[in-house]
Amino acid sequence: MDKVAALEAQDLYRFYRAGGEETLALRGVSLTVAPGEVLAVVGPSGSGKSTLLSCLAGLDEPAGGRVLVGGEQLTHRPEADRARIRARRIGVLMQTRNLVAHLTVAQNIRLAQQLNLESGVLGREELLEGVGLRDRANAYASELSGGELARAGLAVALANTPDVLLADEPTGELDGAVETSILELLRARATAGTGLLIVTHSPAVVRVADSVIHLRDGQVAA
Ligand code: ADP
Repeated sequence: MDKVAALEAQDLYRFYRAGGEETLALRGVSLTVAPGEVLAVVGPSGSGKSTLLSCLAGLDEPAGGRVLVGGEQLTHRPEADRARIRARRIGVLMQTRNLVAHLTVAQNIRLAQQLNLESGVLGREELLEGVGLRDRANAYASELSGGELARAGLAVALANTPDVLLADEPTGELDGAVETSILELLRARATAGTGLLIVTHSPAVVRVADSVIHLRDGQVAA
């Protein structure tokens, strides 16, 4: 039997209606991320990347199609169910870096872990060690440098040991050396079995990906 996909999207449709105008943000998007695979999603502004991420994270409901995470259906379920599945199976790394500014790095991780009531989460020390922030555990998020913020955000996104990590420009605004260290962390997480879907404009991220899909006008371009 085939291994269960970390993430599977089947024929996603999403429309927006604004002032009588209808925008087809997603028009039949399908994709699969295997455990341990890194998939990069690229596309121009307005091509549907944010809408796709929201649907894959269960933060938005597609009008058509479905999303499965670790074989479990995420779409077309009550919001509370989606939230539970997200807390247990999905890591979300947004451009805002997922951090509460007035909490320390360690407190931010604890907060993410409290949302996940299942056992099997990585220890906080291990997470901090993994992103090289052991000595910054008690620093407030507001005190961190850009590179430290990116690494702390990643630790928070991984705090629930997700089946799949959804990342929006994880290396945006970072210089080359810091970008390289974040890419190494992401690659290591994939090697440990997490599926990664990364929306990016960065050629360096695309280079480390196992596969790349191009979104154009809400569709996967051939
Ligand atoms: P990207 O992230 O690639 O820039 P988006 O997913 O943000 O693309 O947008 C896809 C399309 O959907 C665009 O045409 C955008 O204008 C439209 N869109 C996105 N969000 C909304 C919204 N809340 N209301 C109306 N149209 C939207």
